[in-house]
Amino acid sequence: MKLLQNEPLRHHTTMGVGGNARMFAYPETFDEFLMLLKERYFIIGRGSNLIFTDNNFDGTVISLEKCFNALSFEQIDSKRKLVKVGGGVSLKRLLRECVREGLHGLEFLWGVPGSVGGACHTNTGAFGSSFLEYIKEIQIVNQDDKGIKSLKREDIIFSDRVGVKSVIVIDALLILERGESEERLSEFRKWRRGHQPIDKKTAGCIFKNPPGDYAGRLIEKVGLKGERIGDAGISEKHANFIVNFGKATFRDILSLIEMMSEKVFEMFGVKLELEVEIVG
Ligand SMILES: Cc1cc2nc3c(=O)[nH]c(=O)nc-3n(C[C@H](O)[C@H](O)[C@H](O)COP(=O)(O)OP(=O)(O)OC[C@H]3O[C@@H](n4cnc5c(N)ncnc54)[C@H](O)[C@@H]3O)c2cc1C
Repeated sequence: MKLLQNEPLRHHTTMGVGGNARMFAYPETFDEFLMLLKERYFIIGRGSNLIFTDNNFDGTVISLEKCFNALSFEQIDSKRKLVKVGGGVSLKRLLRECVREGLHGLEFLWGVPGSVGGACHTNTGAFGSSFLEYIKEIQIVNQDDKGIKSLKREDIIFSDRVGVKSVIVIDALLILERGESEERLSEFRKWRRGHQPIDKKTAGCIFKNPPGDYAGRLIEKVGLKGERIGDAGISEKHANFIVNFGKATFRDILSLIEMMSEKVFEMFGVKLELEVEIVG
């Protein structure tokens, strides 16, 4: 298996910051994967919801993209197909293949640079839909006892941006219906390109939307759009995104996050909750 020593984590996250991992591993078989779980580890998807601190990670960061990367379709009836997809598959590939199969439902994932495993963990959502709504079952490895089991949809407790915790998702089964997706795809593509800095280094939305409001709106109202600390800046396009303009450090980003949260609390009394995960 491919093992990288003292690997900069900034190369593995969309935000592009972080210290080094003592080891970064791409297991290729199930046995290799299980072996890596014996020591301290962290499972990474595409690193698109993560901000690693500048500290080094004293353990192994494990990518599942080489061992859980299968994708197949099975007809259920004239209207529906069962999609079996590995936890390491990118959402981009999943969406592309589903559209090719004439299935619709996942168009809301256009432009989300994550993986199936990451989407199950965070219950990735947009435009009123979320990933776990489409799940029939997931195959998981329990982080505590390393046992493998299946979780049926009714066993999974999920809500807005809250998905499965303390488990490693190795496979997911989704049920999708036949249907045209081009119109919704082009609508969502246009919206994302117009409203989010998707061509820049970011970790997506920093904060969850508070009930009945938008974190971006509140941050904009306190006048922080465009604010910069070092090479980190609050996006001019969407105030809930922090952009790494070059050599931003974790410290720069954290200072901006604290500023956003404090100012919004001062002015609106709203406590913003992080959507991104800070690790390390
Ligand atoms: C430009 C941009 C747009 C975005 N738009 C959206 C959006 O519209 N909606 C939204 O919800 N999010 C959005 N995001 C955030 C992010 O892309 C999603 O949360 C994504 O699904 C995370 O997947 P990932 O593979 O990158 O996970 P990572 O960031 O790598 O990891 C996130 C968490 O998932 C865990 N994890 C990863 N793989 C597994 C696995 N196999 N089993 C169990 N746990 C696992 C990790 O340990 C970590 O705790 C956006 C991000 C960017 C950069």
